[in-house]
Amino acid sequence: MIITIASFKGGVGKTTTAVHLATYLQSKAPTLLIDGDPNRSASNWSKRGELPFKVIDERQAAKYAKNYEHIVIDTQARPEQEDLEALAEGCDLLVLPTTPDALSLDALMQTVKVLKTLGADQYRILITRVPPKPRRDGEEAREMLTDAQLPLFKGAIREAVAFQKASLAGLPVNKVSDARAKMAWRDYQKVGQEVMK
Ligand code: ADP
Repeated sequence: MIITIASFKGGVGKTTTAVHLATYLQSKAPTLLIDGDPNRSASNWSKRGELPFKVIDERQAAKYAKNYEHIVIDTQARPEQEDLEALAEGCDLLVLPTTPDALSLDALMQTVKVLKTLGADQYRILITRVPPKPRRDGEEAREMLTDAQLPLFKGAIREAVAFQKASLAGLPVNKVSDARAKMAWRDYQKVGQEVMK
């Protein structure tokens, strides 16, 4: 399975999603993460510590891809329309992370508009960095996206400092010692299960 993660805005958890979906998929079958983001966030994450799967630069993809069952591609933020077309065609599932705030949702709606004009339908939206109750940001974003009849993961990713700790330590969140790390990992596990369905 080839899963591409893309976003029109930075800071929405694109790389965090790529790393944790790859962690989940690796627990099922050999998984490769291709780092196509010029910021090299995933490569740097891996260099700071140890991730349970291989991370390579996109320029090495041709050599490695054949040896892996699953491939996760982290892409450059703010893709142009033609980039998006190539991204959508080059994968089985395009995952679009968004945070539940107006700016991110606006950027997401623009992406979706482009995908619709391309006739692409193998994409799904993931709401990330959902603040804890009593805030309703996550639910409100879900209602808005559901009303717009957009394909959405049932699971969402909570806002948790454990993800920042994981990135700093160069680990997936399930290897971080933090009181909320287990719950944070559960969120990505659920999304991983939806991906495999
Ligand atoms: P992007 O690739 O969209 O720029 P990142 O995955 O690099 O986003 O995340 C941006 C920042 O937000 C990083 O500091 C990361 O640790 C943090 N972050 C990502 N997801 C979460 C989350 N669910 N909860 C808390 N912090 C998060």
